[in-house]
Amino acid sequence: MKTEILSMNIAELEELLNSFGEKKYKAKQIFAWLHRGVGFDEMSDISKATREKLSTLTFLYYPEIRQKYVSAIDGTVKYLFAMHDGQLIESVVMRYKHGNSICISSQAGCRMGCKFCASTLNGRARDLSAGEILSQVITAQKDIGERIDNIVMMGIGEPLDNYKSVIRFLELVGAKGGLNIGYRHISLSTCGLVDKIDRLADEEFPITLSISLHASSDDERSEIMPINKKWHIDELLCACRRYFDKTGRRISFEYTLIHTKNDTPAHAKKLAKLLLKYFKGVPFHVNLIPVNEVAESGFKQGSEKSIQTFISILEQSGVNATKRRRLGSDINASCGQLRAENANKTN
Ligand code: SAH
Repeated sequence: MKTEILSMNIAELEELLNSFGEKKYKAKQIFAWLHRGVGFDEMSDISKATREKLSTLTFLYYPEIRQKYVSAIDGTVKYLFAMHDGQLIESVVMRYKHGNSICISSQAGCRMGCKFCASTLNGRARDLSAGEILSQVITAQKDIGERIDNIVMMGIGEPLDNYKSVIRFLELVGAKGGLNIGYRHISLSTCGLVDKIDRLADEEFPITLSISLHASSDDERSEIMPINKKWHIDELLCACRRYFDKTGRRISFEYTLIHTKNDTPAHAKKLAKLLLKYFKGVPFHVNLIPVNEVAESGFKQGSEKSIQTFISILEQSGVNATKRRRLGSDINASCGQLRAENANKTN
């Protein structure tokens, strides 16, 4: 099988070039071309013989834009990408005053089984390679013709369930001569794989960790997030605290508000008490997301008033909380829905 070239780092490219007698320094040039979305044919400072050798020895694929939606309200761009084997994934580019952010997928599908989430409806088809995770940023950046400044790993899939590829992706995306995106501009969202959170804390990547919490008691969390049966809230929050102590990075908690299930004033009080037990005196943040009503889940959003009450209770208790701005509401920008729709069409 051919090696996938987009997953290779510069040292590996050097070794590859060396194996057929090409000079090592060409690796940096090739790396730069690849990360700008350029195919072998257009690498103008690389000899034809080397380009031919590369295409015989390696495999290069940039995602095909199968569908693209641009929000008329806020310019959010949503892509449905087809990978080389036809697997479909989604990425979303959001325009903020402080730059462009992209939300990317880490797996084709997901096996975590969260009850409210569209990405997990048909399970996990396969993991994405590091190159495939990276190629979403490369292709979107090329398509919009502007630099992508921030990355959130909040698309389809559980990034920590595809640990090795995600770590290689982080190495590649931060590499000088490539996209060179700083780790402080990258956040990774997880449903809470505790062993991997500890491993991540030991890596050299000071990224922001986002935890999909969504509940303040084990009973309630286990009901909507099966992962909670493996690692309870206490184990999860202890791991988050260790991550903070080691990296100094503020933890962000995602809390999807589901009408009556977790959005009452009593839930807000319980959530504040829980988080302060582990994070009193250190910075952390709660991101509130009114649940996106996925037809299959039957979960509903509460009123705007109930959301505001929830926020004020958190704030009165000394917990920083904001409601996530909803971008691309006219193009169904939340992840997992296009992939699921397209799977249903072909089933
Ligand atoms: N697997 C990772 C990242 C993907 S989900 C994780 O669990 O964090 C990105 C975020 O969207 C998570 O916080 C997830 O819980 C949330 N999410 C999923 N489905 C949602 C829905 N229908 N409404 C609101 N948020 C949702």
